[in-house]
Amino acid sequence: MPQTKYIFVTGGVTSSLGKGIIAASLAKLLQARGYRTTIQKLDPYINVDPGTLNPYEHGECYVTDDGAETDLDLGHYERFLNVPTSQANNVTTGRIYQSVIEKERKGAFLGKTVQVIPHITNEIKHRIQLLGQSGDFDVVITEIGGTVGDIESLPYIESVRQLLWELGDDNAMVIHLTLIPYLSAAGELKTKPTQHSVKTLMESGIKADVLVCRTEHEISDEIRGKLALFCNVRKQAVIQSIDASTIYDVPLMMQKEGLDQVVMQKLHLEDKGAPDLTQWSAFLKKHKNPKDEVRIGLIGKYVELQDSYKSILESFIHAGAQNEVKVKVISIHSEHLTVDNVPEQLEGLHGILVAPGFGERGIEGKIKAVQYAREQKIPFLGICLGMQMAVIEYARNVLGLTQANSLEMDPKTPDPVIHLMEGQKKVTQKGGTMRLGAWSCDLKPGSLAHKIYGVSQIAERHRHRFEFNNKYLADIQSHGMIASGTNTENNLVEVVEVPEHPWFIGVQYHPEYKSTVANPHPLFVAFVQAALVHKKQSK
Ligand code: GLN
Repeated sequence: MPQTKYIFVTGGVTSSLGKGIIAASLAKLLQARGYRTTIQKLDPYINVDPGTLNPYEHGECYVTDDGAETDLDLGHYERFLNVPTSQANNVTTGRIYQSVIEKERKGAFLGKTVQVIPHITNEIKHRIQLLGQSGDFDVVITEIGGTVGDIESLPYIESVRQLLWELGDDNAMVIHLTLIPYLSAAGELKTKPTQHSVKTLMESGIKADVLVCRTEHEISDEIRGKLALFCNVRKQAVIQSIDASTIYDVPLMMQKEGLDQVVMQKLHLEDKGAPDLTQWSAFLKKHKNPKDEVRIGLIGKYVELQDSYKSILESFIHAGAQNEVKVKVISIHSEHLTVDNVPEQLEGLHGILVAPGFGERGIEGKIKAVQYAREQKIPFLGICLGMQMAVIEYARNVLGLTQANSLEMDPKTPDPVIHLMEGQKKVTQKGGTMRLGAWSCDLKPGSLAHKIYGVSQIAERHRHRFEFNNKYLADIQSHGMIASGTNTENNLVEVVEVPEHPWFIGVQYHPEYKSTVANPHPLFVAFVQAALVHKKQSK
């Protein structure tokens, strides 16, 4: 088996420079050159996974097929590469310590003092090499979360140092992502913060092989020379990453800068010819040249932070390109929606999406938005909590069960149309205990969902504790809303729709996690199409 090559991506100067996008872009280029590539994210926080984090803290929690609750960067990896990720692709400090402590309790280190070096670093190195050892990948790109110099990152940086030494020069390398700030008063780009962050890395015994420089202005040849000299890298390994209008431009920008070439030379990867980016470029062309525009309302309670609904926003980009339409997503705070202002707030939208979520805050606004979409015949997509809200709205306003609710929001409701799943009743721990990951769902022949997917069985990813209460199924169906998708193992309603409405679908799962550039999700594609039809008809 050929030696797997390891690329480590570290960050300097500030956070939020987009290490995930750089890692995904490089992976895309290597993949397009014929290399089987995957990406891994190491997060330095102590939560075992981000599932217990509020979206305001860390953005969306992304879910993989195998049911891992992970960092949102894994979403970028899948969207760029169109290859599923798994639990192995995201590891946190909490998970590392948890497994070392479990081993210690079992007696795996009997007689020894368990320490950061070697026990924690060994566990980190093991997790990094696990993907390579699977034999599925030629290249593993490992993104180290945080910024060099952070206390929390130290064991990771030390593990990288050890691995660089163990794997050897030809098999491992470091890309350091840094910021070149522009001082408008001086009219200059400044290299000093980068010099310092490279020095910090060196204090830990790591020399960066490549500098990827985030900048708002073109970096001159002179500055490239200066960075090369002071930071001890070759000049062609100083890569400019200038602000882009879309993240999907970044692979092409990195190709232009020669990032893939520098990496291949360093790791002695055979040049199998120029990367094949035909499909990628076709997508970009459509994305940048829309023939029409639709306005879709995203009703959620975390709308202040764009990252909270990352996968949904990206799914609209994929679906928009597929339809050659610009999707203008209007974020609307569900807490601000009341009986009186709904028509004015939602007027002019061509589609309404009610977002996933947890807890009571903002749900009445979501229910009002569903009602408006249903009554005004505006295309509607409800995801997870959004689907549950659609069922509650129907029960209240069509079946007349005015106090219908979810037991999550109102444990005393006389009509719990959404209730706790049987398997959840004994669950006491919050972390990693929801119904997670891919589950199969049978679609009802002839339903809208069936038409959209074009197949009768699908598998979609989940993250929930509550479900449609089958006690109400017959009554709800007799009033017009149908269950068009069901998990046959436990009879769980996965999809609801209202056939007399032009396009009204609620899904218990999260289609947004599976939309990629190469495979835009059919539900989003059809939703955007329906929004376009609605726009044309309402003119
Ligand atoms: N809070 C709901 C549940 O747990 C919905 C979850 C979600 O939207 N992801 O069932």
